[in-house]
Amino acid sequence: MTADQGAARRRFEPEVTEHTQPFWDATRDRRLVIQWCPGCNAPVWYPRETCPGCLGSEYEWRESTGSGTVDAVTVMHRPGSPGMAEMVPYTVAMIELAEGVRMMSNVVGCEPYEVAPGMAVRLTWETLSDGRNLPLFEPARP
Ligand SMILES: [Zn+2]
Repeated sequence: MTADQGAARRRFEPEVTEHTQPFWDATRDRRLVIQWCPGCNAPVWYPRETCPGCLGSEYEWRESTGSGTVDAVTVMHRPGSPGMAEMVPYTVAMIELAEGVRMMSNVVGCEPYEVAPGMAVRLTWETLSDGRNLPLFEPARP
C-alpha cells in the first residue's frame, strides 16, 4: 500500500485471503455469504480451510438473511487502528446472526451508546476503496 492509498482510505479495510475470497467476492454484489460444512450441516464463521467440527474441507456458501442480535458491544473512543481515527467514537459489536454465527462488526445508524445487548439489527453496507463492501449493522427498526 502506498501512502497515497492510505490517505484516501477512510477506514481500516480487511485483507482478502485465499479462504475469504468467495466471501469478499459476494460482497461486491452486497450479498453476505457464510461458509457451510455439508458434513455437519452447520455454518462455519469465520471462513477457513477446515471445518472445526469435522475437519472436512468441502464447503458451500449460503446467503445470510443479515438479521441478527447484538450479543456484546463496546464503544471505541480511541481508534483500534490508525485507519479508524476518523470514526471515533464507534461501536465494535458481536452480532449473533439468525444462522447462528457470531460476527464482529460495527453498528452504525444510531448513537454508539444506544447500542446494547439484545438489540435487533439488520445488515447494511459500506463500500470499500476496491469495490468490495463491508458488512455493517444498523438497528432493525420497523
Ligand atoms: Zn464439518
